[in-house]
Amino acid sequence: MSIDLRSDTVTKPTSEMLRVMMNAEVGDDVFGEDPTVNALEDKVAECFGMEAGLFVPSGTMGNQLCIKVLTRPGDEVMIEEKGHIFNYEGSAAAIFSSVQLHTVKGQRGKLSADLLWDRPRGQFDWEPRTRVISLENSTNKGGGACYTRKELNALRKFADEHDLRIHLDGARLWNAVIATGIDPAFFGRVADTINVCFSKGLGAPVGSMILSSKEHIRRARRFRKAMGGGMRQVGILAAAANYAMDHHWSKLEEDHRRAKELASTINTCGGLSIDPDSVETNIVIFDLLEEKAETALQKLGQHGVQMVPFGPQTVRATLHHQVTDDDVANVQQVLKQLFD
Ligand SMILES: *Cc1c(COP(=O)(O)O)cnc(C)c1O
Repeated sequence: MSIDLRSDTVTKPTSEMLRVMMNAEVGDDVFGEDPTVNALEDKVAECFGMEAGLFVPSGTMGNQLCIKVLTRPGDEVMIEEKGHIFNYEGSAAAIFSSVQLHTVKGQRGKLSADLLWDRPRGQFDWEPRTRVISLENSTNKGGGACYTRKELNALRKFADEHDLRIHLDGARLWNAVIATGIDPAFFGRVADTINVCFSKGLGAPVGSMILSSKEHIRRARRFRKAMGGGMRQVGILAAAANYAMDHHWSKLEEDHRRAKELASTINTCGGLSIDPDSVETNIVIFDLLEEKAETALQKLGQHGVQMVPFGPQTVRATLHHQVTDDDVANVQQVLKQLFD
């Protein structure tokens, strides 16, 4: 038995997805001639209420292209301290955009207009110029938490009052849409730029997309080429992303249900601690009361269950469509056996 809960990036293409990839109509996308890519860019942009989209190799490149088009060197980007852009992108914002990240401690990876009220700077010559609020939805390190419509409206209002732009790292925006029921087009009204990933819970092997105005996307396209992200007959990958959007998006609901089921078992184990209400999507973060994450992960591994450390005594488990109800039942049994 081997059940891989390390990440929702570990999924493999299904045979049906592979069939669609093999039959994809392709062309040279650097020339703008790949019909499968062009159709996907239009479809995703329309879905999220934006003018245009740009297919990119990874979420990291997507986020960094958005920061690049929204800032000038020396600008400041405000971000919650658990943010992926701050923690997991190799200081790329400093390398490619020469911007400063201003981290703010929020709740479960989320910022709020109230937290930011006295933060924007730039009035005096000696201050950094705050330019962007970078949000994540759902949050990764924040445990899969989602913003409410009200929270996002307040952040948009705040951004407008202070002449700030909003970037939305929506690697798992698909999950947030399913969990909250918010119309995807709403996010296009809240954010100036959005990044979505096809290679997380959606289950495509590769690919992300940035969404914004035609002008921003035109500029991002130039920077994508400069960063080495111009790909040729990439319709093969766009076909997988399109398939995932059509066939896997609605299934995220099952991942969320399974995550909650796992959390309720964790809650009953004497050696583990979790707030089951904190599980909103496919990510389950829990604490070990009596041992180190390292030791616990080793024991889990011996029972065929893989998770990742998220702190000295904290572990993350992530659900995805290749983890079945039977798998979850097995994991629940192993957890009870080891930690109750
Ligand atoms: C995975 C992820 C990304 C992008 O990661 P890549 O591995 O570069 O595709 C960006 N933001 C969040 C919140 C993520 O979880």
